[in-house]
Amino acid sequence: MRRVAALFCALLCLASCSPAPKKHSSTLFAMDTVMELQVYGDESVLASSAELIKELESELSATDEHSAVYAFNHRSAGLSGPALDVLSRAMDISRLTGGALDVTVYPLVLAWGFTTGQYRVPDKTEIAGLLEKVGYEKLTGLTLPEGAMIDLGAVAKGYASDKVVELWREKGVTSGLMSLGGNVYALGVKPGGDKWTVGVRDPFSDGLLGSVEVENAAVVTSGGYERYFEENGVTYHHIIDPKTGYPANSGLASVTIVGPDGTLCDGLSTAFFVMGLDAAAETWKSYGPGFEAIFVTDDREIYITEGLESSFSVMGSYDKSDVRVIRRGQN
Ligand code: AMP
Ligand code: MG
Repeated sequence: MRRVAALFCALLCLASCSPAPKKHSSTLFAMDTVMELQVYGDESVLASSAELIKELESELSATDEHSAVYAFNHRSAGLSGPALDVLSRAMDISRLTGGALDVTVYPLVLAWGFTTGQYRVPDKTEIAGLLEKVGYEKLTGLTLPEGAMIDLGAVAKGYASDKVVELWREKGVTSGLMSLGGNVYALGVKPGGDKWTVGVRDPFSDGLLGSVEVENAAVVTSGGYERYFEENGVTYHHIIDPKTGYPANSGLASVTIVGPDGTLCDGLSTAFFVMGLDAAAETWKSYGPGFEAIFVTDDREIYITEGLESSFSVMGSYDKSDVRVIRRGQN
């Protein structure tokens, strides 16, 4: 009897004590930000992921003189490969958001000094002149109109996250988490079977305002707090409204998009920040399933779309009563 019990214990242990896949992580600096990668299982995938990100950076950067985008902007080459792929995804998002995302906003981003860090407030005449060069709808075919330049920075990290996830899947990784600056992607679930918990940054402090439980999803935040400067008591941030040429001022402090398509989530977080709550909520309603959103207003109100009702929780100085739910059936 004792022997049977011992055998039973041994079998039970075999079933439940099989070693959990080992966690491997790495950090790199790319695309102007710190990136963290974490996978369970195959460690070698970390080095190939970093290589892939660096390759994409060297294609997509608007400032690297050797990049495909730089060559395109300086009329020395047409666009092809990943840069063309990203551009076509960005154009779709521009159409979806009425031009709130517009990769041709680059001359303005340059004029405000956001690429170089040499910040300045351009005068009205300069902005009016630069606005004439902006307009994604003028980008017909593959040539840039006179004076136009593109910047894929609003979607590049989301695109990179999609490509890394593709690589992880190819290599048989079923569980992993990456944070490419504000762009998080959670592949699968945690080894124990629980969903990943991803923190959502509070735009008014260094802390978190809440978290979302996700699986196979990107969680991407855009906010004015990410890059800004102050002049004469006024704060100017890096997300430009392509209609005015000035930093977007739509009443939102941050927008977080959650969904399986990292490129779409990245593009939409930037675009929705420009559009403001009402227009963004309308776009979400008409799009149908595919992504969910968390909006934080300048008045510290939180709005979430209905798909996040059971997966989002507030924390820190926020309370459940600060959260309102946007539903498809509602005006
Ligand atoms: P993100 O951090 O993804 O919200 O992207 C912001 C970056 O995209 C900025 O630093 C600019 O390089 C660029 N950008 C700013 N405004 C826009 C816009 N309206 N459409 C497309 N790209 C933009
Ligand atoms: Mg973005």
